[in-house]
Amino acid sequence: MKSNEVLVTGRMMPLVMEQLESRFTLHKLHEAADRDALLAEVGPRIRAVATGGHVKTDAALMAKLPKLELVANFGVGYDSVDAAWAGQHGVVVTNTPDVLTEEVADTCLGLLLMTVRELSASERYLRAGLWEKQGAYPLTHNTLAGKTVGILALGRIGKAIAKRCQAFGLKIVYHGRSQQKDVAYPYYPTLVGMAEACDILISVAPGGDSTFHIIDAEVLRALGPKGVLINIGRGSVVDEGALISALQNKVIASAGLDVFEKEPHVPAELIALDHVVLLPHVGSASHHTRGLMGQLVVDNITSFLSGKGPLTPVAETPWPPKG
Ligand code: NAP
Repeated sequence: MKSNEVLVTGRMMPLVMEQLESRFTLHKLHEAADRDALLAEVGPRIRAVATGGHVKTDAALMAKLPKLELVANFGVGYDSVDAAWAGQHGVVVTNTPDVLTEEVADTCLGLLLMTVRELSASERYLRAGLWEKQGAYPLTHNTLAGKTVGILALGRIGKAIAKRCQAFGLKIVYHGRSQQKDVAYPYYPTLVGMAEACDILISVAPGGDSTFHIIDAEVLRALGPKGVLINIGRGSVVDEGALISALQNKVIASAGLDVFEKEPHVPAELIALDHVVLLPHVGSASHHTRGLMGQLVVDNITSFLSGKGPLTPVAETPWPPKG
């Protein structure tokens, strides 16, 4: 196995690095003083890349690796990998589905409760000593009671969120690019139609061109002045400028965001707003779940390079290859 050369594009957790280092000849792009020189030297020998959302694994990078066969992405979302290019050039892309589904759904429910019941604002109130000085925190205008949740992208995580929302007594509707066969929740063929019909819009849509800014000013207007937006999917799905304006002008009531357009940058206008809950992309961020994700990256590379094929190939690069 050591004769197989693997490229890591950015810092990865120790359990990934240690296993990859013990099994393969590993090259670390992020530690190279001269990345182009490293790629020129080892690029022709690289069979697999381990990567994550921190670095773009685009056509320009992959084209420098003529023997590349596999890109193993840390994360279920792989919008930072040009999977279409990979598919056209015989390169398999893998991601880390399922192992993070429940964790992200749990985080989403936490974010939902924090936003609707103003839990972080009320905690800030207590810590500032205002409970003693000014009395009880004001009653929240919003509540979960009797509300309808509209889920954008009812995939693995969306369905786990729906299950939790049902346990909270919420009504569930959804929108996505296709109607799901295994659920009975009402489907809305348009996002604006669903936004009009729901009180709380939860987005768990993947990033990429097809979802870029699909939550725009029109969708936010349809959600309305009592509406709440929760985004646990990808920052690029929401037009952040339109969202800031909608929050400032009370076009919607509030928002809870785990993801942003230009992470780790969060616009000062959002930070200035008290009726917004902001989390630093922590949907899957427990040792338990990140460990499972890291192990799946290692297992995909090990399985592939020992001739057993990838474990979790993405839709654009099916295995075995079609045709
Ligand atoms: P999934 O099972 O593949 O579900 C994705 C869903 O999105 C599918 O139902 C798919 O429709 C739908 N979809 C795809 N493109 C669409 C489009 N253009 N318009 C509307 N719907 C579209 O993926 P998952 O495991 O649930 O993960 C979903 C996303 O969550 C990831 O891609 C990632 O961006 C995000 N995520 C965030 C965190 C975090 O820490 N905040 C953690 C993990 C994942 P079909 O059913 O027709 O395929």
